[in-house]
Amino acid sequence: MKKWNLVIDVAKCHDCNNCFLSCKDEYVGNDFPPFSVAQPNHGHRWMNIMRKERGQYPKVDVAYLPIPCMHCDDAPCIKKSKDGAVYKRDDGIVIIDPEKAKGQKDILATCPYGAIWWNEEKAVPQKCTLCAHLLDEGWKEPRCVQACPTGALRVIYAEDFEMQKIIESENLEVYQPQYKTRPRVYYKNLYRYATCFIAGSVAIRDTDECAEGATVSLIKGSKKTIAEAVTNNYGDFKFDGFDEDGGAYSLDISYKDRPKKIIELELKTSVNVGTILL
Ligand code: SF4
Ligand code: SF4
Repeated sequence: MKKWNLVIDVAKCHDCNNCFLSCKDEYVGNDFPPFSVAQPNHGHRWMNIMRKERGQYPKVDVAYLPIPCMHCDDAPCIKKSKDGAVYKRDDGIVIIDPEKAKGQKDILATCPYGAIWWNEEKAVPQKCTLCAHLLDEGWKEPRCVQACPTGALRVIYAEDFEMQKIIESENLEVYQPQYKTRPRVYYKNLYRYATCFIAGSVAIRDTDECAEGATVSLIKGSKKTIAEAVTNNYGDFKFDGFDEDGGAYSLDISYKDRPKKIIELELKTSVNVGTILL
């Protein structure tokens, strides 16, 4: 049976908030029984866009991570709610029944992604429904996907084995896999948000010019080279995709007939090692 999946490309998200606003436009003031009652005017972020700045000036970048309900296949919100108040449809979408969930504020704490919000006026927990009411009417995508101007959001309606092939071919990942909830929301280029980089510049001491074409080897722990880069015309290099608190690394820099230079570092978070003079 085909099921819905959402793919989010972190490299294409520019924090325009169109997805967030289209969600508001759809749900504020509108009931969609049996899937949802109206979203309050303020306070809810069913598509919650997180922001992260990495590095130090001038080597910085910024990434945005839209977080909706992950429509998990092994969802703690389903297991821990009472009276079947949260359930999974055959097409993969997880729904909080607004009637059965009335008063069950403790459902919020069951979601490790913080994707459930409390509606004080109606006394119900609420979250993204993937616009199930629209998909059931024949829409091909929910409002957020339709509103995204960069193509950062994409829904895929596919058998699980077909989705598995897409996951492998596009290197898709789930966010926070340690939660083990088997999300149906996948991320592309997640490293932009979830990992850190090592960057710097190489320059020539005597002339203060950029050293274009210097070789920079990244060495992990006991002298194992794990990556190599060649500096660009600004003398810049960058290695990306490392776990934070990744331990000891060193950079081995060589350029023409200049003596080699080795920089030791302890990687905690993204780091600009500055200008290395040869
Ligand atoms: S992301 Fe949270 S609310 Fe959504 S299905 Fe998973 S556990 Fe439930
Ligand atoms: S609409 Fe697309 S680009 Fe804009 S914030 Fe949402 S996911 Fe990012």
